[in-house]
Amino acid sequence: MNICDLKAYEIAALIKSRELSAVEVLEANLDRISNVDGRSGMLDAGEITKEDEATVHAFISVSEERARKQAADVDKRIAEGEQVGPLTGVPFSVKDIFAVKGTFSTAASRILANFNAPYTATAVKKMEKAGGVMLGKVNLDEFTYGSSSESSAFQPHPRNPWDTSKVTGGSSGGSAAAVAAGEGALSLGTDTGGSIRQPAAFCGVVGMKPTYGRVSRYGLIAFGSSLDCPGPVSRDVRDAALMMNVIAGPDHKDNTTAVLPVPDYLHDLEAGVKGMRIGLSSDYFKITYFDHEKGELQEQPIPDSIKRSVEKTADALSNMGAEIVEDIQMPYQKYGIPVYFVISRVEAASNLHRFDGVKYGYRSEQVIDNLKDLYRKTRNEGFGQEPKLRILMGMYVSAAQFSEQYYQQALRVRSLIRSDFDTLFDANGKHRVDALLTPTTPSSAFPVGDVYGDSVLMQYADQFTVNANHAGLPSLTFPAGLDDKKMPLGAQLIGPDFSEAKLLRIARAYEITTDNAAWRSEKPQVLKNL
Ligand code: GLN
Repeated sequence: MNICDLKAYEIAALIKSRELSAVEVLEANLDRISNVDGRSGMLDAGEITKEDEATVHAFISVSEERARKQAADVDKRIAEGEQVGPLTGVPFSVKDIFAVKGTFSTAASRILANFNAPYTATAVKKMEKAGGVMLGKVNLDEFTYGSSSESSAFQPHPRNPWDTSKVTGGSSGGSAAAVAAGEGALSLGTDTGGSIRQPAAFCGVVGMKPTYGRVSRYGLIAFGSSLDCPGPVSRDVRDAALMMNVIAGPDHKDNTTAVLPVPDYLHDLEAGVKGMRIGLSSDYFKITYFDHEKGELQEQPIPDSIKRSVEKTADALSNMGAEIVEDIQMPYQKYGIPVYFVISRVEAASNLHRFDGVKYGYRSEQVIDNLKDLYRKTRNEGFGQEPKLRILMGMYVSAAQFSEQYYQQALRVRSLIRSDFDTLFDANGKHRVDALLTPTTPSSAFPVGDVYGDSVLMQYADQFTVNANHAGLPSLTFPAGLDDKKMPLGAQLIGPDFSEAKLLRIARAYEITTDNAAWRSEKPQVLKNL
């Protein structure tokens, strides 16, 4: 077994027992990065070569020196008999939307390419305090706006380790690709409409969006402030639980964090699913999209392979003693994407106001006439196409004369989306389910270039993930097989507020019962010749 393919809990245990050193683990991971990652994402990258097309490009920056210092420090503390923490020597990466002091924090945008944050995000600080070793910052869609990671201003963009002609998903594409390719055992991502879960599903790894407020957003470059959730990307469910133990909890620097004790997510992890009620809804077995010619929502069934993998997952859980509750109606779920289009754009436009060339980041070098001219030139040169589109749309749908028609309406439908879930989880209600089981995505990873440029179609990749964000609920994706092209498929669980421990427990039960499944022995293409 290669060191890079070990799970985080295995690495921490081996370092604590001194069978491995943190430096040794780090060097193995740096070697893995040089073997599979190709050149890191950069501005003005020039021509994308055939060689570029065959490597992963998860990283924007690898901070070797910083990491070497951290690893050496961990080894020193171990040698001195100190208890370091649950992530002792575990190498991890951070989506480049988190501020980390001493590194550039770019949001994959030209406008922040030279931004050297003066402080470190709480979630990253906690990972480091727990003994984790940060390898570097990983790539994403510009400002996290996208579902393929292709829209980064730092090219080459990430490519799927299972097949580099396919996208990683996004926006935490760098996180999912890095973890799938053994470049770090863990990654810290963010999820606003599906950005942890969709790429995790595409790359065959585990990803969790915690309950809104469970993990601090302090130091996160904001997209949609009422939707954003930092969370773990890992190679198995136990590692996701381990990482949740480290990053969850109240933070006085983010007063939207929940002031609730953090349970030990590892405690009952393997207690099984006997007696649990797991729901299936037909509203998550169809693709809904807006037909512009007809002017209405259209429906079509999801691909068979995806439906089958969710049904098989349900069967496996049922064989372990869970009760499957079928045919649940969730009539408002189909409005998730249209509502998200409005709310997330309004919040994005508002959050992007601060990037104006004055306080930090890029400033236009053209001749400037006046303050407005400085703003205009800086923002025109600094933002890529997707942020510009989102600013335009966000400003439009929240403008005084349209706000009632779009923004206020979207807020009302958002609470109806939440009401679907309240009915589902109501302890005295008809369904009384512990969790809803759905596909994570309506397709497996699509080819690079196929959807890019059509931001409406791109958005529909999130239709099964986005409603957990609207409702603020925790949700987890875990690998549930491969499709006929041998690309990973994810299954998703959504549970009531703060039910992370239960979701992890269900996914862990599935992981244990499918441990010997044939598909589990398949490996990402980029790892085959190592
Ligand atoms: N793909 C979605 C979007 O483009 C979600 C992004 C996210 O979760 N950050 O907005």
